[in-house]
Amino acid sequence: MTGPTPGSPTPGGLSAGHDVGRLLDGRTAVVTGGAQGIGLAIARTFVAQGARVVLGDLDQARLAAAVEELGGAEVAAASVCDVRDGEHVDRLMATAVDSFGSLDVLVNNAGITRDATLRKMTEQQFDDVVGVHLKGCWHGLRAAAPIMREQGRGAIVNMSSLSAKVGNIGQTNYSAAKAGIVGMTKAAAKELAPRGVRVNAVQPGLIRTPMTEAMPQRIWDTKMAEIPLGRAGEPEEVAAVVLFLASDLASYLTGTVIEVTGGRSM
Ligand code: NAP
Repeated sequence: MTGPTPGSPTPGGLSAGHDVGRLLDGRTAVVTGGAQGIGLAIARTFVAQGARVVLGDLDQARLAAAVEELGGAEVAAASVCDVRDGEHVDRLMATAVDSFGSLDVLVNNAGITRDATLRKMTEQQFDDVVGVHLKGCWHGLRAAAPIMREQGRGAIVNMSSLSAKVGNIGQTNYSAAKAGIVGMTKAAAKELAPRGVRVNAVQPGLIRTPMTEAMPQRIWDTKMAEIPLGRAGEPEEVAAVVLFLASDLASYLTGTVIEVTGGRSM
C-alpha cells in the first residue's frame, strides 16, 4: 500500500493531536476594504491568529483608527488604496513586503453597492460596481501573484456574494460583478496552482455591516425570512471562513467557493 502513514502530517495539513498553534503565525496578509465591516473583522481574526496585516481602503482616518485598534505598527499597517487603480494596489502589496517582509495572504474584499432596477440604473452605477469588485479583484490578483509565485506559496481569498449565485433584483451590476469574481477565482486558481498559490472565494449572504445597515427595513425583513438559521450573519462568522481558506487547514482547496449564508438559497 502506498500513501502517508495514518496520523502523519499531510503537506500543510494537520494530523490528529497536532498542536496547531496560531493558524497564521508569521504570515503577512493584505485585506482590501479593511477599514470597516467584514474586512476589519477579517483583519482582527488574522491578527488574533498571529498574522501581521496591511489594510487598503479609501479613508486615511478610518485606516489609522483600524491600525490602532488592531494593535498598532507592530502588527498592522495601512495604505490608502482605491482598488480601481492598479498603481494603488501595487503600492499596497509593496507596503506588505516593505513593512513585514512577505505577502502570504491576500483578501480581495473591498466593495460597494449602487442598487437600482434596470429601468433606473445609470451606466455610471454599473461601471462603479464592476470597477470596484471585478477590476479591483483582478488588480489584487495581478499584483500579488508575482510575489507569491516567487515565494512558492500564498493564499488568495476573493469576496463574492450569494447575489452571484441567485441574482438579486436591483443588482444587475453587483450580481454580475460577484459572479465574474467566481470565474476569475477559478481561472487564477488554475494559473497559480503549479506555483503553490491557492485561490478561493467566499459568498456571504446577509451579514450585519455598515453596507447592509443602509438597507431599507422592508428589504432587510424579506431577506431575513429566507434564512433557515433565522438570523443575519456577523462579520466574524465570514472572517472565520476566510481564515480557514487562508490557512494551511485548507492546503488542498483551490478554485472553490464557500457559501456563508445561514443556509439561505442553499
Ligand atoms: P462595508 O462595510 O461597506 O466595507 C467595505 C469597505 O470597502 C469600506 O471601508 C469601503 O469604503 C471600502 N471600499 C469601497 N470602495 C473601495 C475602493 N474602490 N477601494 C478600496 N476600498 C473600497 O461592506 P461589507 O459589508 O463589509 O462588505 C465587504 C465585502 O463583502 C464586499 O465585497 C461586499 O460586496 C461583500 N459582501 C457583503 C455582504 C453583506 O451582507 N455585508 C454580503 C455579501 C458580500 P467606503 O465606506 O468609503 O466606501
